[in-house]
Order: sequence, then C-alpha cells, then structure tokens
Amino acid sequence: MKELKDREYDAIVVGTGPGGATVAKELAQRNRSVLMLEWGDNEPVNGTLAQTIRNMGIPGKGALFTSDMLTMVRGITTGGSSIYYYGTAFYPPVGMLKKYNIRIEDEIEEVNNELPIAPLSDRLMGPMAKRIMNSARELGYDWKKMPKFMDQDKCRPECSKCGYGCPHGAKWTARNFVDQAREKGAALINGAKVTTVLTDNGKARGVVFRHHGTTRRAFAKQVVLAAGGIGSPLILRTLGFPDAGRNFFYDPLIAVMGTVPDMEGGREIPMASAIHMEDEGYVMSDMTLPPALYGILTSEVGRMDQLLNHPGALTIMVKAKDSLGGYLSGSGGVRKRLAESDKQKLSRGYKRAGEILRNAGAGQVFKSYFLAAHPGGTVKINELVDSNLETEIQNLFVCDCSVIPEAWGLPPTYTLLCLGKRLAKNMSKI
Ligand SMILES: Cc1cc2nc3c(=O)[nH]c(=O)nc-3n(C[C@H](O)[C@H](O)[C@H](O)COP(=O)(O)OP(=O)(O)OC[C@H]3O[C@@H](n4cnc5c(N)ncnc54)[C@H](O)[C@@H]3O)c2cc1C
Repeated sequence: MKELKDREYDAIVVGTGPGGATVAKELAQRNRSVLMLEWGDNEPVNGTLAQTIRNMGIPGKGALFTSDMLTMVRGITTGGSSIYYYGTAFYPPVGMLKKYNIRIEDEIEEVNNELPIAPLSDRLMGPMAKRIMNSARELGYDWKKMPKFMDQDKCRPECSKCGYGCPHGAKWTARNFVDQAREKGAALINGAKVTTVLTDNGKARGVVFRHHGTTRRAFAKQVVLAAGGIGSPLILRTLGFPDAGRNFFYDPLIAVMGTVPDMEGGREIPMASAIHMEDEGYVMSDMTLPPALYGILTSEVGRMDQLLNHPGALTIMVKAKDSLGGYLSGSGGVRKRLAESDKQKLSRGYKRAGEILRNAGAGQVFKSYFLAAHPGGTVKINELVDSNLETEIQNLFVCDCSVIPEAWGLPPTYTLLCLGKRLAKNMSKI
C-alpha cells in the first residue's frame, strides 16, 4: 500500500461536486493545505455526447437503476453532477435548516456576491421555453423565469449543450471552485476512489483510496466526505454506520412531451422557467431535451411515432418531492420503489403539464417513464451528522446532498454551496 506520507494535509476532501469543491476552495483561501480526491477525471469539458456518456452514462458508475428501473444519473468527473446540471439556482430552504440549528443567511449573501445568479435575459430564453411560460400564464399559473448560475455574456443562445457540459465556460460549475482551490495551492488527484476513512482513537486521520489499480493512503487532520448522495453513505458504512444510505429521497420526475407543428427548435437552455406547486408537492419547468435523450425517452415508452419530432417537441418536466424510503445495497444499488402517493403526485402534474402544452398548441401529448434526479438524505443532519455536519468520529465531516435532513424536492446546488461555506468556516476554527 503506497502512502502519501510526505505530508499531512490540514484537510482531505473526498469528491469535488458543489459540496466538496466549496469546502476545498474556502479552506484553501484560508491558507489551509487541502487535498482533493476525485474518482472521475479532469478532462476539459467539451460538450459532446461521447464525453457525457463516459462521465454519466456507464451503468453502475454514473448511471444507476432503482428497483423500479428508474434511471438516476450522476457526474463522475471533477465538478460532479454540476458539470451536467441545468444551472438553476433554487433558493435554499432557510426555514427547514433553521429547525436543525443551521443558519445560512450570511452564506446566501456570500454566494450571491460571488457567483453570477440571474434569470435568463430575453435573448437567451429559447422560443420553446417562452411558449410554455406564456401558455402557463394564460391558464393562470404563476410561472416565472428561474435564476441561473450562468455568465450570460459567455452563453450562446442556440448552443443547448448545458446538458452535455458547457464548453463555453458560461454555466458555473463546481469545477470553477476546484480551479480556485488549486490556484490557492490545493492538490487534486483524479482517478482516486476513496474506499474508507482511517481513524485513530475515534478521530479521523486520513483515507484509503484506489488509484490506477493500487491502494493508497493519505493523511490529514480533518476529512470531509463529499462523494454525493450515493458515494458518501457507502464510505460511512465501512466505518460501522449501518443506517447510512437508508430512508432517502431521489426526486422522481417525468418529462411530458407534445409536438407543435409550427416550430423548428429543440436547441435551447433547459429549465429557463418554472412553477413550484408546493401544495401538490412538485415542480413543473420547461425542459428542452438534447436530441439523444429525447430519442431515449421516446423509445423507452414505445412512442416510435414521435421519434423524429424532436425539433417541434415542447417538453415540461414534472419533478416530485418523494417520500423517504429505501436503502442502498453494499455496492451502491438503489433499492427504492416509487410510492403510490408519489406516482399520484406525478400523475397530477402530468395532467396539468398536458393542459399547458395543449394550450400552447401541442398535440400528441405523452409522458416518459419515471427518472430520478437528486439522490439525498442518506446521511441526514441530526441522525448521522450534527448541525456542524460532523459525524460521531471527530474531525470527520460530510458535506453534500446526503446531509439534507428532509425530503425537499428542489434542486440543491445553491444550498450545498451555502453549507460548504459554513462548514469551511467552522472547520477553520478547530
Ligand atoms: C441532469 C441534471 C440536472 C440538474 N440540474 C440541476 C439544477 O438545475 N440546479 C441544481 O441545483 N441542481 C441540479 N442538479 C442536481 C445537482 O447537480 C446535484 O444535486 C449536485 O451536483 C450534488 O452535489 P454533491 O456535492 O452532493 O455531489 P456530486 O455533484 O454528485 O459530486 C460528488 C463527487 O464525488 C465523486 N465521488 C463519488 N464517489 C467517490 C469516491 N468514493 N471517492 C472519490 N470521489 C467520489 C464523484 O465523482 C463526484 O465528482 C441536476 C442534476 C442532474 C443530473
């Protein structure tokens, strides 16, 4: 077993998605020595389908399948799933976190000052998103443009590669923070899959990881697990936390599609606008799909008649807040079935989305099979970590989607950035 013994770092951060990258950057900016260990690669993002499949489409790695055969994807690359996310900045659940003694108002302000967050300008909002928004508003919905993590000056309106990784540097991703951490001296090792944490007298003191076929160890005073909603609980299990990876959410969704005869589009920024149907437990948003994904979702439900209709397809995503349940198998298999009540929420959303599409002039409305979006709640605050995100092993912290304590049903990146900033401040005091 090779050891990175030439130095002991102040902190090791496992995983470089929004949670991990934020902690790493903040610690490095406070002159802490930081080592980031990332399972995926650090190839420049080129916005191609081939790279997307490598980072997010390999079964058992980026693509996971639940007991109901829902597909759930995650980015295994520097920046994690944020490389492929839609950049929508949903405001953090301040009230929910307050119940757990977590105040993030200051961090929200810091994120707002640091990152470009604004609704898309009219220039960048695509015609399909506009048509859906106008139709929804005509029917009385309070359907609004969504704030985006995006440098809009760099964005090209008809590029539509957000879902394949933005090649223009317009979409903010956690890689930006990884780069900033490295500028401040942090080290990054790619292809490093952490398997467990080294402890001594109830304190974390390093990690064990696989790297190019060998097992290696690295040492630090503090360790942060930020391997995502699936990755972090699996590592914790090896330390005797049997409840890690139980009773979680995964934000199931469907795509509701219809075709309009008078449009030749299909290439625009997804999730430009949305409505949160809080009482009914779901979000609806425009979601123009990349052609390959449209093809997959259409064929999956046998709608071969729609296969070539991508240029005229209006799509609304309906994403529900699901009930907690299920467990992760030892190898990360997602053993969770969609509850009847969650299916009913999605059906209600399907009905409403269908009305909006038909009012927009779309015919042939149909829905995709279920997908799952954001796995989380696998290492909940108050159960497996305290309000400082520390486990019962001293100096072992968790900072990613897994700590979210309740089903919430909304995209979590903005929240994770705030939690990461708050954690780095607390870690720096130790
Ligand atoms: C298609 C899509 C669209 C989305 N759109 C939005 C959106 O518009 N807005 C929003 O807020 N959210 C969105 N999300 C969700 C958002 O991207 C994720 O919730 C967020 O990235 C989670 O961050 P994280 O830090 O928890 O983990 P992740 O982003 O999953 O990062 C975890 C990192 O850990 C690494 N890792 C895993 N296991 C190990 C290990 N054992 N050792 C070392 N490294 C490991 C992974 O490679 C990865 O880099 C979207 C997600 C997807 C898939």
